[in-house]
Amino acid sequence: MVKRALINIDYTYDFVADNGALTCGKPGQDIEESIVQLTETFIQNGDYVAFAIDVHDQNDEYHPETKLFPPHNIRGTAGRELFGKLKNVYDEYKERDTVAYFDKTRYSAFAGTNLEIRLRERGITEVHLVGVCTDICVLHTAVDAYNKGFHIVIYKDAVASFNQKGHEWALEHFAGSLGAMVK
Ligand code: ZN
Repeated sequence: MVKRALINIDYTYDFVADNGALTCGKPGQDIEESIVQLTETFIQNGDYVAFAIDVHDQNDEYHPETKLFPPHNIRGTAGRELFGKLKNVYDEYKERDTVAYFDKTRYSAFAGTNLEIRLRERGITEVHLVGVCTDICVLHTAVDAYNKGFHIVIYKDAVASFNQKGHEWALEHFAGSLGAMVK
């Protein structure tokens, strides 16, 4: 049987709330139910669930995003908290050994984290991606997963972006160029 993992990407206050620092706004809020439901289903099924969450330090002059985006997901701030009911789900299940939290400092959940080691040691070959933004962190995670030989599943009702054109382009790219199942 194929072993699979759910990778929850950046569904935090700063990326989703109306007053978040780099928010997707309504499209981000609209996927809350879907992300929460998928996360609970994977956890209850005993599948590995990884939360890969952006972290930045204030005024980090060496970070490439400093020039590109307003400050967001700053370590230790409320903006970096998981948004809405996803925070409750995480808090309820975080002690389980199938639920893991990764700090990431780049777009991809694989960049500078030990996510790949955790997946490989468990024999996981298929990654299911949810979160934001479709055309930035979800995209870069999917590209890395593709290059590393993982099968990819994307839930179009559980990813969102502040850039609707980018969102739609990325959904096509997942299927057409990364061989992902987009459902
Ligand atoms: Zn960032």
